[in-house]
Amino acid sequence: MTALVRLVGLSRSVPDGYVLRPILRDVDLRLDYRTSVLISGPSGSGKSTLLNILGLLDRPSAGSYWLDGVDVAALNDDERSELRGGVVGFVFQHFHLLPTLSVLENVLMPSDYTVGRQSALRDRAEDLLAIVGLADRFESKPMFLSGGEQQRVAIARALLREPKLLLADEPTGALDGATAEEVRGLLMAAVQEVGSTAVLVSHDVARYGPVVDRHFTLVDGRLTPAEGVPR
Ligand code: ADP
Ligand code: MG
Repeated sequence: MTALVRLVGLSRSVPDGYVLRPILRDVDLRLDYRTSVLISGPSGSGKSTLLNILGLLDRPSAGSYWLDGVDVAALNDDERSELRGGVVGFVFQHFHLLPTLSVLENVLMPSDYTVGRQSALRDRAEDLLAIVGLADRFESKPMFLSGGEQQRVAIARALLREPKLLLADEPTGALDGATAEEVRGLLMAAVQEVGSTAVLVSHDVARYGPVVDRHFTLVDGRLTPAEGVPR
């Protein structure tokens, strides 16, 4: 069976004065559908760069990437956007909600206005908001929500189109311990319900390590399976 994600010999370098500085070095990765993956590693090790490449927001300097069976290098910009919109959902550390829109409108935001009025998508948005515990906050504006509640809206938004690949970059990094634990639990429950493969970037190994199927560490641009982790 094809993998959802397949990276072979993937590298990313950036210009640094007169030389190229490697950010990701020879990364190989194969992810199945419906799995959860933690990528941990020190600050500056390339975690966000890897996530951005996986989400088609950035391009590798060398190597190959197949996403959902598609060789990404063969796509033009429009095709990349289309694949991204159909397959990928993002959750960021800082929630990036639109302040003038309600909770429900924020979740429907990837849709254009007319699509947002279609009842099937709206029903799905309401279901997802209920899963993350916000069934009674549809009409609230983000400024009246706590950080944890705002991230729960962002999670519902990311999952609206049932992405096969959910990418989360430090999804609880801006939240205090108890709130981080709650949001982590709701994120994992929502991902499970939708059936996405989740790639979670976090340095919080104690929190995420026990609840994922696989754990990798990224150190100085090199990805390796974490030691001492079952499975
Ligand atoms: P992490 O998310 O693990 O903290 P990043 O992927 O954000 O690491 O960054 C890895 C390294 O690459 C950092 O040193 C960062 O400054 C550098 N970097 C990332 N993107 C660029 C870019 N477009 N141009 C120059 N340097 C970059
Ligand atoms: Mg980062």
